[in-house]
Amino acid sequence: MEKFISVLKIIPSTTADGEGFRTSIYFAGCSHHCRGCHNPQAWKKKNGTMVSIEEIMAHILPNEFENVTFSGGDPLYQVEAITRLAIQIKIQTVKTIWCYSGYTYEQILASPRLSMILPHIDVLVDGPFLLEKKTNQIPFVGSSNQRVIMLTK
Ligand code: SF4
Repeated sequence: MEKFISVLKIIPSTTADGEGFRTSIYFAGCSHHCRGCHNPQAWKKKNGTMVSIEEIMAHILPNEFENVTFSGGDPLYQVEAITRLAIQIKIQTVKTIWCYSGYTYEQILASPRLSMILPHIDVLVDGPFLLEKKTNQIPFVGSSNQRVIMLTK
């Protein structure tokens, strides 16, 4: 099993990271360094544990009625790895995937590398955390510039 994905933690049965109950995977690595970031230890990829797709699937598959969220860190820091994981989730399950990123949707669309994930996720929560726009009034975002973008129906 190739251990090529750096993960901080995997949280089952959370309702904080998208609609309904979800298994949330917190990936290590983030280059945005937002002021007021909730999780600065997530900035360095080396702070995570290297795991395989199979090891992550072993957390996801038993939770039959839970969907999946990619969080972090910025999951797109490891976009090649999370794309391979998302493809496996879609092959093996009918689960929806929400993905958080510090990049905006427009920045992702403009990048051939970053946009490789888009066909394999259902919802993108985009944009950096902006301390001056911090809010707890909008579900699933930390600041009001961030958007919940439905990519599939
Ligand atoms: S994108 Fe998220 S993890 Fe990265 S610095 Fe900003 S708030 Fe922190």
